[in-house]
Amino acid sequence: MKILLRNENWKVFFILLVSVWLQTGLVFAQQIRVVTTIPDLADITKQIGKDLVSVESLAKGVEFMHAVPVRPSFVPKLNQADLLVLIGLDLEVSWLPALLEVASNPRILRGQPGYIDCSVRVNVIEAPALLDRSAGDIHPKGNPHYNLDPVNGKVMAETIAGALSRNFPQHQETFQKNLKVYLSELDRWIPRWQEMAAPLKGVKIVPYHLEWSYFAKRYGLEQVGTVEVKPGIEPTPNHIVELVQKMKQEKAQLIIYGPQSDRFPRQLASQTSAKALKLPDMVGGEPGADTYIKMIDYNIRTMVGAVKGG
Ligand SMILES: [Zn+2]
Repeated sequence: MKILLRNENWKVFFILLVSVWLQTGLVFAQQIRVVTTIPDLADITKQIGKDLVSVESLAKGVEFMHAVPVRPSFVPKLNQADLLVLIGLDLEVSWLPALLEVASNPRILRGQPGYIDCSVRVNVIEAPALLDRSAGDIHPKGNPHYNLDPVNGKVMAETIAGALSRNFPQHQETFQKNLKVYLSELDRWIPRWQEMAAPLKGVKIVPYHLEWSYFAKRYGLEQVGTVEVKPGIEPTPNHIVELVQKMKQEKAQLIIYGPQSDRFPRQLASQTSAKALKLPDMVGGEPGADTYIKMIDYNIRTMVGAVKGG
């Protein structure tokens, strides 16, 4: 009798367990599945969608966003996604289109409501007069690194909130409320950053890749060259010789690199009076830069520290 009761208890316990598991499963299944190309977009989507969304970024913050190593796990993620959020301007062109083909998810193909290109409302800079890839330029539609200017953080948040609201109008009110909170948070930071960045005005920089242009424009830095010959083209010995001359002439202060090797930045620093500085170009690129706001803050703080320190 005792044993029987114990068995009954186990049965009840098991049924309860399964029902809890099923309910949790249902909650997960009801979440809107968003895949983003870079972690900045994932962080911002989470701020707007909160518990209504599950978000995953394909790229990791430490990778080079033009050439993200494609992992097999990307395919099922894209296959099941309700929305795909991307930077656009051909930033992802070398790795995303082939994946979209394999993932066969018509909801997130270009032109469909689930395909969210965050560049559409950005004021794009460095747009070439002619569309020309002959020199291997990987910025054929203008500079795609607008995520490094926090004012564009607001634009990205608005685009994402708009897309979520259009696709899931039943939650529109929540998305718009969360957007408002996030925008006011950014609005509190933006003037503070502007003040913090005052010592950066007129500072001459040499980025490894041409990705600090929006940041430089916002805070008044001057770019005197890049370590790469052109976006996506590694430096040649001649280019380095010319760059060293230019950096000496212009008194360049900082060489900024991110996911690239520090070989050329160190070489340039040893031949000039500039400092080599590693900075995240995406959320998660450095420890302590794990949200969009923290990344911008990290970049300004570290750059100001480097300029003041020498
Ligand atoms: Zn680029």
